[in-house]
Amino acid sequence: MGVYMFADVVLNEFSRNIDRILTYRVPDDIKNLKIGSRVLVPVNKSFVEGYAINLSEKIEIPIEKVKPIMRVLDDFTVFDEKLLNLAIWMRDYYKCNLSESLQCIIPSGIKNGIKKVKKVTLNKGYLDDASITPRQFEILNYLKDNGTVLLSDLVKDLNISYSTVNSLARKGIICVYYDEVNRLKMSDYKKTDKLIPTKEQEFVINEVKHSIGRNVFEKYLLFGVTGSGKTEVYLQLIEKCIEEGKESIVLVPEISLTPQTIERFISRFGNLVAVLHSGLSDGERFDEWRRIKNGEVKVVVGVRNAIFAPFSNIGLIIIDEEHENTYKQSDFKPKYNVKEVAEKRCEIEKAVLLLGSATPQIESYYKALRNEYKLLKLKERIGLELPEVDVVNMSRELADGNNSIFSRKLYKEIRENLMKGEQTILFLNRRGYSSFVMCRDCGYVPECPNCDISLTFHANESKLRCHYCGYNINTVYVCPKCGSRRVRYLGIGTERVEKEVKKLFPRSRVLRMDIDTTKTKGAHEKIFNEFKNGNADILIGTQMISKGFDIPNVTLVGVILADVTLNIPDFRSGERTFQLLTQVAGRAGRGSKPGRVIIQTYEEDNYSIISAKNQDYESFYKEEIRYRETYMYPPFTHLLNIVVSGPIKNDVVTCAASVYNLIYKTINKSVKKSYNKVLGPSSAPIERIKNNYRWQIIIKSSERAILQDVCDVLNTLKFHKGIKISFDLDPLNLI
Ligand code: ADP
Ligand code: ZN
Ligand code: ZN
Repeated sequence: MGVYMFADVVLNEFSRNIDRILTYRVPDDIKNLKIGSRVLVPVNKSFVEGYAINLSEKIEIPIEKVKPIMRVLDDFTVFDEKLLNLAIWMRDYYKCNLSESLQCIIPSGIKNGIKKVKKVTLNKGYLDDASITPRQFEILNYLKDNGTVLLSDLVKDLNISYSTVNSLARKGIICVYYDEVNRLKMSDYKKTDKLIPTKEQEFVINEVKHSIGRNVFEKYLLFGVTGSGKTEVYLQLIEKCIEEGKESIVLVPEISLTPQTIERFISRFGNLVAVLHSGLSDGERFDEWRRIKNGEVKVVVGVRNAIFAPFSNIGLIIIDEEHENTYKQSDFKPKYNVKEVAEKRCEIEKAVLLLGSATPQIESYYKALRNEYKLLKLKERIGLELPEVDVVNMSRELADGNNSIFSRKLYKEIRENLMKGEQTILFLNRRGYSSFVMCRDCGYVPECPNCDISLTFHANESKLRCHYCGYNINTVYVCPKCGSRRVRYLGIGTERVEKEVKKLFPRSRVLRMDIDTTKTKGAHEKIFNEFKNGNADILIGTQMISKGFDIPNVTLVGVILADVTLNIPDFRSGERTFQLLTQVAGRAGRGSKPGRVIIQTYEEDNYSIISAKNQDYESFYKEEIRYRETYMYPPFTHLLNIVVSGPIKNDVVTCAASVYNLIYKTINKSVKKSYNKVLGPSSAPIERIKNNYRWQIIIKSSERAILQDVCDVLNTLKFHKGIKISFDLDPLNLI
């Protein structure tokens, strides 16, 4: 192996539009530099952190122009060449900087470093020394009883001084040394054995196992109804990987929402599993990262960013509930979709990608039907029937004189369930008490002064709140505009449902789970356990309760108003509604008793509702894909959502217009034959958030490459007057 003299270093700078990659000399005294080393390098008159991404023996530039690397910061690398290639692919695919995509890979806790503590132990074969003092004798006995201990514990327990310990160490009887510690406590777990697979499961397991054994890059979509045993399939495939000496990554949408699922991984594989969740401190996260990198872990279960786990021999990547929005990073750059990143990582690693869902994303099913993914199906619920689903038309209820938020049918079923001692879940995808307040006489609606959106009424605290910026005022009983006392609360939220339930069923025990009741740490688990242990009869919640709950005594699920998600102005709202309804319905009847589901709606003829009632994904897909093709939405096009925002409306509008012109030129220059359509510029659905005006341009194109060209142009633009331009390629959310 030759001696590398030079290294290309990408600087870790965020304020820039374009990466700086500079070449440095490797001085003689630096021996441990590798690709993936974190280094400190001189730039102008200061030092900047960066990462070595390329090593070479010679360079084109004159050597006296090349400055030396100052220092290597860690005794381990923060990425290997395969992860570097993944980051480079992300840079090109999502049009971000390399330093930004590398930032996804590097553990956030790296600055905390390795935690070391002083430990004390008896030296092997130490000689009894007559000269030791009684205090020192106590130390000897303590160590004989307790083995290796923390120095701090020893000092505290025996109430002795450090110098007493040190003098004993100087005699060679004991040893005091630094040791690395893991900040994470290993939890106890009950070991579970694997289940004997059903015929359907066995077919799926064998098919995927075969690919794992052949070391080939393969992509599967596992379409299995809720409760069909997908998780057991995952577990047995991971076991296969462990047998083959390979590693697995399992992505779940949100850890806190799926405690039961996580438990199943831990109880099967014990300490071979690392769970990466948002509750870890930076230090704990870094310690887990080290455990993974050192090969102590074979399975990582986590949310989106667990895809970057520092494994080096991956056999399988599973994405459970692959249709979930949380798999896309929408808030900041790089705005990556982890399904695509996982696919790329599997290609690099020659591994198997397995996407699982009861309601696959339209794009995924489309790919499966075109053989881009191999389609696997689990059609039967294990040992259970699918629940019976009823749809109730709420206009008819009103016409019949029932203006309660509960239809007669749902009311009757809740009552019966209470009498039988069985549990009920009531779902409504909107929190708060009412979605807005309106004066009956003049039509005045209180709005947020910072955002163009009406304030939501929260009865418990008697406040009107903005759900975008948190602005709040005391609730109004008198219209501030016309002085009328006839102020009405319109549109229901979970808080209102809770109040109505308590009114109608005063003796029922009710819990509510939404953002407002789960703000404190551990609140989510607490509510979940209360309900699971039967300490409540009715659980009311938003989409938080739609997945992962496997509670045998839940026999009734009521959807208070399906229209809430249906009416969101986004081309995916039909799909989201179908997914949510199917997921929530899947919570019913998971025990020995059959389940019932009641969906309340004003739009009983909508195909999302009809397909959810019939639990018929295929017919939903057929309608939805036709709609997507007619209006040229994904998977028939790619979208690019551009938002121009700033504090002064005129500047934003002017800037949006000039961006539009640039886009037009870029698209027209393209020689490819393609479908392109530019929508806008127009005000975004919420025109102002936190006092920033927002204008939007949406481009639809059959060629993703054209949209990438547009992104390149956007990245070169300079901003002024506080204006920001952000873009999202293949967005999941257009609001
Ligand atoms: P999904 O992930 O598709 O919703 P799960 O894996 O949670 O389904 O399985 C549903 C239920 O069936 C769980 O309680 C699970 O323990 C049980 N189960 C799964 N596979 C088997 C099997 N082969 N034999 C017996 N029970 C099984
Ligand atoms: Zn009024
Ligand atoms: Zn606001």
